[in-house]
Amino acid sequence: MTTLVELEREALACSRCPLAAGRTNVVFGVGDPDADLMFVGEGPGRDEDLKGEPFVGRSGQLLDRLIQEEIGMTRDRCYIANVVKCRPPGNCDPHPEEVASCRPYLEAQIEMIRPRVVVTLGIFATRLLLDTTDGITKLRGRSYPFHGGWLVPTFHPSAALRGNPMAVAGMRADFVRAKELLLEVGSPVVAP
Ligand code: URA
Repeated sequence: MTTLVELEREALACSRCPLAAGRTNVVFGVGDPDADLMFVGEGPGRDEDLKGEPFVGRSGQLLDRLIQEEIGMTRDRCYIANVVKCRPPGNCDPHPEEVASCRPYLEAQIEMIRPRVVVTLGIFATRLLLDTTDGITKLRGRSYPFHGGWLVPTFHPSAALRGNPMAVAGMRADFVRAKELLLEVGSPVVAP
């Protein structure tokens, strides 16, 4: 059976789609391989491509702050990954073929980490993992059964940074929902 380390090694050498040609680093994912809580974003931006780590730019600073303030955790106790592991040029949306090529990595990460709660950040991750074409405003505000645990869709932090007044408040409420689900399943990562 492949391990997360072996999967990462494979991803670091990946050339399954055209995004490989433009990347500085593959941004596989970071955090606790046994995490009860996993976040899934869209794809690396410039800062992430340079560092090889997800959510290290402005979106990441907001994400870290909300994880701390609403869940009481630091990022090293969760696992953070993206739908696509290489930066789409000019921060454009990943193309369907790129998402399709990269999808097996994310699916394998979820299978190996087996998080109790997955929080999807934005429409790309939410649509992919819930297999729907509905919009984020319709989908968020509740949790969905997912791989024996729960999936909580929320806005992407960049929506909050772009000034969407709903987004930060919505993210806070969704993070509280994620924490409650962790408490319900008896996860030791959160204090009541
Ligand atoms: N936006 C994402 O979706 N992922 C990152 O890693 C950074 C910004």
